[in-house]
Amino acid sequence: MFCVDTNVALYYKDLLDVANLYFGLEEASLTPEGCQFIVEHRCVQEDGQWVQRCRLLRGGETAAQGERRDPIKGDGVVQLNRFRRRYAKLCLYEMLKNYFGYGQLWGGLTGIRPTKLVRQLEWEGMSFDQALDYMNRVFDVSPEKLALVRRIHSAQQGIYQWGDDSCFDVYVGIPFCRTRCLYCSFFSAAAGKESLLEEYTDALCREIGEMGRHMAGQGKRVRTIYMGGGTPTALGDARLERVLAAVNETFGRVREFTVEAGRPDTVTPNTFPMLRRMGVDRVSINPQTMNARTLQVIGRDHTPQDIVRAYGWARQAGIPSVNMDMIVGLPGETPDDVADTLRELEKMEIDNLTVHTLAIKRSSKLHERLKDYALPSGEDAVRMLEAAESSAVARGMEPYYMYRQKYMRGNLENVGYALPGKACVYNVDMMEETHSILGLGAGSMSKRMFFEREFHSRLAAPKDVATYLHSQEQLLREKKEFFTWAE
Ligand code: SF4
Repeated sequence: MFCVDTNVALYYKDLLDVANLYFGLEEASLTPEGCQFIVEHRCVQEDGQWVQRCRLLRGGETAAQGERRDPIKGDGVVQLNRFRRRYAKLCLYEMLKNYFGYGQLWGGLTGIRPTKLVRQLEWEGMSFDQALDYMNRVFDVSPEKLALVRRIHSAQQGIYQWGDDSCFDVYVGIPFCRTRCLYCSFFSAAAGKESLLEEYTDALCREIGEMGRHMAGQGKRVRTIYMGGGTPTALGDARLERVLAAVNETFGRVREFTVEAGRPDTVTPNTFPMLRRMGVDRVSINPQTMNARTLQVIGRDHTPQDIVRAYGWARQAGIPSVNMDMIVGLPGETPDDVADTLRELEKMEIDNLTVHTLAIKRSSKLHERLKDYALPSGEDAVRMLEAAESSAVARGMEPYYMYRQKYMRGNLENVGYALPGKACVYNVDMMEETHSILGLGAGSMSKRMFFEREFHSRLAAPKDVATYLHSQEQLLREKKEFFTWAE
């Protein structure tokens, strides 16, 4: 057990993220009692500088310490805090790196998407190359990860125009799943109760119509639509068609329309023809692994053959773009298992491959029963990720978006690969925070961009379906206010 003790309470979580790079899944305690390690951080102002001092105590003795001094800079509270937080984290990272004797592939970078940091550094006056150089020198990001950032930056050229406030993206949430996956922390309801599914469909269609009219009244256009979950196809074909009809009636034709058909046991031979008829041009079928044994371990109710069959139905229906998600680092899997999954996926002509690294989320069943599962080492996770990248590149795909989560095996990343011209615009918009997002449905997150202030604010819808249904009036009022632009 370890604990973090800082004199700037605002930075506690940031410092905890950095400590987790080295203490992994060890439980962090709020108090020092019983802790093997205590991480101390103090920030003070001295001689017109910020001074960060970190100390690592082991068994009550000082095991390591570090200090850094930086000029006080930044206009306004947001920027001042951004710099001071950055320096505090870097001071701690350097000390832990020296103590443990090794760095991280992403260096001391936590809590910010690498591509977003590049943009922040560009705002601070650096060129793209200078920003990468700074990430290497100051954040200790490895050359291979910087090369990935460079490829993603290049793949995103032409997809968005920074600062475009004339349009927005739409996210529609269907928070139902047939069963709960072992690693899932998402709050989804069981898809078994017909009356609840009906009630939810009615409420969602109403929200789509009301918010669509409101946004049109604000003079904003829709750019892309993404329907995720949960598992949207768990609604059943007829209800899903009703939601899609409401979407079409409200928003009309858009640049890209994705529906997640994540679990193949939720689709029928009629699902994809219906999706195509309703204007859907991208679907995501998510095997995670093509290993039958692992599918059982992670709580999936289907076989690898079901995935192949669902893929065939999607293609027969003429869906122009098919994505598949896979996860590296699943319980009991070896690099050979991942190689098998990649070989099976290569037999299907998919347009996008999204490679996730297993993240052990605190509210997942996996976290609760961690001792019962053999997880691949961080080194094996790196090899698996490299194999997935080689497979994607050999298929002519390029990485086009990336994000990182807490508690990932090997502190790695999730990467989306796409064939040329097939990058998912919504994914780029969402990860790079390029447009406002109108979130509809339970558990959805709406995001409003304020480009001139380099700032965005968020509005979360209740995750619990019953709460969403009961609070819809109030939610609609809040959402309309949230998305009202001044004249
Ligand atoms: S399909 Fe996705 S949302 Fe549903 S339980 Fe599995 S991981 Fe969670």
